[in-house]
Order: sequence, then structure tokens, then C-alpha cells
Amino acid sequence: MKDTHKHRGMRNKLAETLSAKGIQDVKVLDAIKTIPRHLFLDSGFEDHAYQDKAFPIGAEQTISQPYTVAFQTELLQIKPNHTILEIGTGSGYQTAVLLHLRAKVYTIERQQELFKKTKLFFSKMHYRPKKVIFGDGYKGLPEQAPFDGIIVTAGAPEVPKSLMSQLKVGGRLVIPVGVEEQVMTLFTRKSEKEFEKQELGSFRFVPLLENKN
Ligand code: SAH
Repeated sequence: MKDTHKHRGMRNKLAETLSAKGIQDVKVLDAIKTIPRHLFLDSGFEDHAYQDKAFPIGAEQTISQPYTVAFQTELLQIKPNHTILEIGTGSGYQTAVLLHLRAKVYTIERQQELFKKTKLFFSKMHYRPKKVIFGDGYKGLPEQAPFDGIIVTAGAPEVPKSLMSQLKVGGRLVIPVGVEEQVMTLFTRKSEKEFEKQELGSFRFVPLLENKN
């Protein structure tokens, strides 16, 4: 698969659509314009890659809708060299957006099939997250904590306490909370003990699943 002039044209259009929907951060829009989303999809779906829609990526999972990716990323307010933890690697598209903003990214995926496929894809594409981890993101990644930002890309029935505790003071946790439908929730750690909570609209995600073993 290749990246062509036509693909770039479609990405510019997609970025315009996201901007019209309210995405303002030029670095986030630049990531949308740059990253070849069609390469993150199975080849049958290539034609749909630059519509603002979620798509199946196998193992009953989906690549998030571009608007959702842009919205969550904007909320993180990433600065170069920020350390970011992503829960739900999936296709790796969100990871690539975080890397484009020059974050140091740790990403966790619980589906082994997807984990293997996406890890291989990252090396093929020369995307370099700090670490791609096969495991349960519910627990976070205590050995690399604290993080400047944590992004959860699956719907969480409740907010895992471990993720709150792994934020730096000043750090941000962006997490869709809910079962059938999720409320995008931003927690900002104000001090060791205080968190500010903001609720920012409804979304639909595949579920965040806890490993019960
Ligand atoms: N960021 C991805 C979104 C994938 S959908 C993308 O842009 O493509 C959400 C992903 O979260 C799925 O791949 C799912 O397997 C994964 N997931 C669900 N529960 C998880 C958990 N507890 N830990 C890690 N990953 C999880």
C-alpha cells in the first residue's frame, strides 16, 4: 500500500471537517493531515479511511473516529517530550497522532492478536513508541509513572483508581466513562489529593475490559 497525492488531498479535507466540528489545535490538525490513516485499516476499508467514521480493525475492535481521536488528543495538551500512557493501542492510529506531537508514548493492548499486528506495523512504518505492552491497561503502568497525560481509548464502566494515581500533579487523564454510551471525562490533577473533573459530551467506544485473573 502506498501514500499518494490523492490520499493527502483527502486528509486535508478531513482536517477541514474536524476544524469545522470544533478542533482548534493546529498541531492536532497537522497530525491528521500527515498520518496516512488508510494504512492503519485492513485493505478492504481503504476507501473509507478519510471519512470521519470509526471502522472495524479485527478482533471485534475499531479504529476510533478521527474526530474522537482529535478531540481526546486536544484535551491532553501535549508538549514535546511529555510522557503519555495510552490504554487501548488498537490499530495504532491514536499512538501515531501522539508521536506526531512528539510525546514519549507507552501504549497497552489486551488483545494479543492486535498487539502483535500493530507492534509489527509500527516497526514497518518506523513509528517509535517507547514501549508497546501486551497487558491489562486497567492497572496502568506503575513502573513508568507518573505521566503527563493518560488517554483511554475504550469505554470505561468506571474510572480505574490506578490511572488517577499514576498522573503527575498538573497531568491530565482523558477517559470516556460509561457502559452503553460514554461521557468524555477530563481529570486534571491539581495536587497530590485534588482532581478537577470536567465532562465534555457523549461518545461511543468499544468496552474497556478488565482481566479478571
Ligand atoms: N486507539 C485505538 C482504539 C482502538 S479501540 C485506535 O486508534 O485504533 C480500543 C482498544 O482498547 C481495543 O483494541 C481493545 O482491545 C483495547 N482494550 C480494551 N480493554 C483494554 C484494557 N483493559 N487494556 C488495554 N487495552 C484494552
